[in-house]
Amino acid sequence: MKIVIFGPPGSGKGTYASRLMKRLGIPHISTGDLVREEIRNQTALGKTVEKYSSSGTLVPDEVITEMLKKRIGPELSRGFILEGYPRTVSQAKELNKITKIDAVVNLNVPDSVIVDRLSARLQCKACGAIYNERTLKPKVAGKCDKCGGELFRRVDDQPEVIRERLRVYREASEPVVDFYRARSLLKDIRNEDPNVDPEQVVDQIMKLI
Ligand SMILES: [Zn+2]
Repeated sequence: MKIVIFGPPGSGKGTYASRLMKRLGIPHISTGDLVREEIRNQTALGKTVEKYSSSGTLVPDEVITEMLKKRIGPELSRGFILEGYPRTVSQAKELNKITKIDAVVNLNVPDSVIVDRLSARLQCKACGAIYNERTLKPKVAGKCDKCGGELFRRVDDQPEVIRERLRVYREASEPVVDFYRARSLLKDIRNEDPNVDPEQVVDQIMKLI
């Protein structure tokens, strides 16, 4: 099964994707992780991405698509859960050329819940793992459970910055949602309870896909 998990920043995409991965036994591909990996390994693609992000410009579509093709190719026959891509209609069309997606899980979460959740978020400097001061605390304060790396709060997780990110997200994502809805692939998940058990949401997703 080939699934895209789609939703605003802070909607829990990564959390649900990794739980779905366990239940379905297929890999979870996160473009965020791919980018970090390429940069860490200092590949040609990694160096290109680094150049863009250090100058503060958006990494062009084709660079991300190239990165994805490299990884998605070997996983095609097994199926996958894709997170962080597509973000635009042109990326959705690119993905369509690579493979046929079976379902797009669209996470609908109110802004207030997202602002609340993201402002409590911590990330590992070394491996990128995400924690939350309220809902997903690390075992040792300030340290990553997986690699022992230092946890930090991202500058873009400040409430005003989050609201602006959400506005930008909605503007860019609505056409993508329409693109998949028109192809009857969209599976809407509504999640208004900030303290919902992630497993419950995953149950809901399993029923829809
Ligand atoms: Zn870590």
